[in-house]
Amino acid sequence: MDIKIVPLPAEKMKKKITDESQLGFGKILTDRMLMVEWKAGQGWCDARIQPYAPFVLDPASLVFHYAQEIFEGLKAYKWADGRVAMFRPEMNARRFNQSGDRLCMPPIPEELFLKGIEQLVALEREWIPTSPETSLYIRPTMIAVDPVLGIKPADHYYFYVILSPVGPYYAAGFNPVNIMVEDHYVRAVPGGTGEAKTGGNYASSLKAGLEAKKKGYDQVLWLDGRQQRYIEEVGAMNMFFAYGKKIVTAPLNGSILSGVTRDSVLKLAPTLGYEVEERPLEINDLMADIRSGKITEAFGSGTAAVITPVGKLCYKEECLQLSAGKVGEVTQHLYDSLTGIQTGRIADTFGWVR
Ligand code: PMP
Repeated sequence: MDIKIVPLPAEKMKKKITDESQLGFGKILTDRMLMVEWKAGQGWCDARIQPYAPFVLDPASLVFHYAQEIFEGLKAYKWADGRVAMFRPEMNARRFNQSGDRLCMPPIPEELFLKGIEQLVALEREWIPTSPETSLYIRPTMIAVDPVLGIKPADHYYFYVILSPVGPYYAAGFNPVNIMVEDHYVRAVPGGTGEAKTGGNYASSLKAGLEAKKKGYDQVLWLDGRQQRYIEEVGAMNMFFAYGKKIVTAPLNGSILSGVTRDSVLKLAPTLGYEVEERPLEINDLMADIRSGKITEAFGSGTAAVITPVGKLCYKEECLQLSAGKVGEVTQHLYDSLTGIQTGRIADTFGWVR
């Protein structure tokens, strides 16, 4: 399908930020967006890159009432030689369609997803920041727009992609975060939508996040929704624990998001001399292993958060510190190696950059 380019009038171009240390995360949006529609009986149609602008949507639109919505998050980097690289975008295309399947939304052809994003990023390349720890965050989204109040899968969808030049996800940058293990609320249950990247999962997480923040924590670590015994993931990160040179993470059990960064760590770490393991991680065992010093480091992995060290992990009344509250050696090694590949400083032997 051809993607039409709608001209962007010069007066509609936004002023770009000059001090990249002020970017923050997701506050600034670029000049253009990709838009494709899907209509029952017609399929995908009317692909265009148009000036960034608000939508006019009927107040009855299905997305507003029943949250039929999915999204993705990936990044583009401007390399020192001027080339622009995206990191494993085909993984996001695949996961987008898996989320869509769970929410009864039509699959988008991978080539259209990738080509559309590539063309949009190429047009917006001047927006890609270049300071360390910055990148262009790419947010593909699909929403149900039929104006009907009956609950049903929609007959009309908008697929759109918006872009945001970003700095570090956490204001503190690459520094340890404090995490509270959530033992009251749950994020996902077996058979639920935990594995899908859909807005409802994040809306239902807000309350726990807010309560944790009030107590001084940065994020919550979710336990499984059935027994509240096994750790699952953090708000926007999968979790890893280092037992010396062995790195373990929870298995993909259907309620955890299958992180692109998680998969990359599992493939990258063995090439750097670490052993990796996916196994159920019981919270009391984990706390005991931190207490005894068997667990030397913990970190989260995610597109936005990259590799984020954990400073403190708190469960019920007990708070345990990891790596003396500093960035551990394994965490630093993985951070440097992964960001090295993403930004072209380290050769990509995996075929991950596009
Ligand atoms: N878990 C959740 C709930 C997330 O929202 C994210 C961010 N997409 C992740 C894990 C990490 O996934 P990825 O590495 O693909 O960004």
